[in-house]
Amino acid sequence: MDYGKVREVDPAVADALVGERNRQEQTLAMIASENHVSEAVLEAQGSVLTNKYAEGYPGERYYAGCEYADDVESLAIERATELWGAEHVNVQPHSGTQANQAVYYAVLEPGDKILSLDLTHGGHLSHGHPANFAGQIYDVEQYEVDADTGRIDYEDLHATAEEFDPDIVVSGYSAYPRAVDWEEIQAAADAVDAYHLADIAHITGLVAAGVHPSPVGVADFVTGSTHKTIRAGRGGIVMCDAEYADDIDNAVFPGGQGGPLMHNIAGKAVGFKEALEPEFEEYARAVIDNARTLGDTLSAHGLSLVSGGTDTHLVLADLRESHPDLSGGDAEDALAAANIVLNGNTVPGETRSPFDPSGIRAGTAGLTTRGFDEAAMEEVGDLIYRVVDAADSDDVIYEVGERVVELCEEYPLYA
Ligand SMILES: *Cc1c(COP(=O)(O)O)cnc(C)c1O
Repeated sequence: MDYGKVREVDPAVADALVGERNRQEQTLAMIASENHVSEAVLEAQGSVLTNKYAEGYPGERYYAGCEYADDVESLAIERATELWGAEHVNVQPHSGTQANQAVYYAVLEPGDKILSLDLTHGGHLSHGHPANFAGQIYDVEQYEVDADTGRIDYEDLHATAEEFDPDIVVSGYSAYPRAVDWEEIQAAADAVDAYHLADIAHITGLVAAGVHPSPVGVADFVTGSTHKTIRAGRGGIVMCDAEYADDIDNAVFPGGQGGPLMHNIAGKAVGFKEALEPEFEEYARAVIDNARTLGDTLSAHGLSLVSGGTDTHLVLADLRESHPDLSGGDAEDALAAANIVLNGNTVPGETRSPFDPSGIRAGTAGLTTRGFDEAAMEEVGDLIYRVVDAADSDDVIYEVGERVVELCEEYPLYA
């Protein structure tokens, strides 16, 4: 990966690509939505399929010459079906947001009602935030997590659903550390005759490996991103029962997209194949064990975790109690200076702003891909705490940064 061909044409972009590869190699990628794909996935994504127009679906394309595109997309679909067990899978969405857009477009009319989790409580922009198309086209009401437990308040969800009478209830979250009870949400949707969209963007890999309960077979629609815990390269996916298959396929193309990104679909096919290997289940278990260890370590140092811990790949620390003068944004900056890359994040009951929130969110999917075990993760927790606790100390940031570089050398990324 020296990007020699790019360098011949475009040294400026080659510099940026090499810089990014080195950045990933020499820092800890702990943004909870990120992961590191294999070189096989990278190769598939960088393939000649980027040249191919394949509007339509396998066996029914609008263009000639789609035999290999058909092979690749059919393999991606087969493997996704095996991984998640849905009756129907569409692997063409360009991203998780496009996958959600397809579901809304398939079953809602403009002005219809979406009930989703508040963004500052762990929801996602595409669930109806005012800045997103969904917030502008549909009528959105939000539910919340319980202020004390940090967990979805299923009773409140039921009550809000009764009152608001939504057309669709959206579950699945961006900053929620706990296992989701899909049946409870389904019951709330059923009680008001609403659809249920379970967006497993973050936890696709955990669900595929069977280490988090699956909404497939419970919710009407399941969407996801393919680049987060499932590690199959950038993109999205929609799953549903056979009865919605045509509606979803038409909503993805031609409803919301043109030609599929066949090179990314090749990445998905390869990544899904990797995820079908027994090692992937071990990986997914290790991701959760590592997140627990990280959470325990931060708690032991006195940081307050939203919901008190985690069942997933991520922990969300609320800094207000332990470090009232440190915002999540300032913590993010100090940690980045020490080569630990995560994000400041809103917390339930947020009292600062979304641009400079009160929490930090950290995920373990990327480090676990690099081979970090629980002992290493405990050290990472210690290092994170050292920086959080002395965020304006250049000495601490320097020392931690040096140790992170050593850890990165111990756990290399791309050989
Ligand atoms: C990450 C995420 C998405 C999709 O994001 P894209 O960047 O569009 O792939 C959708 N929903 C949730 C809950 C997410 O966390």
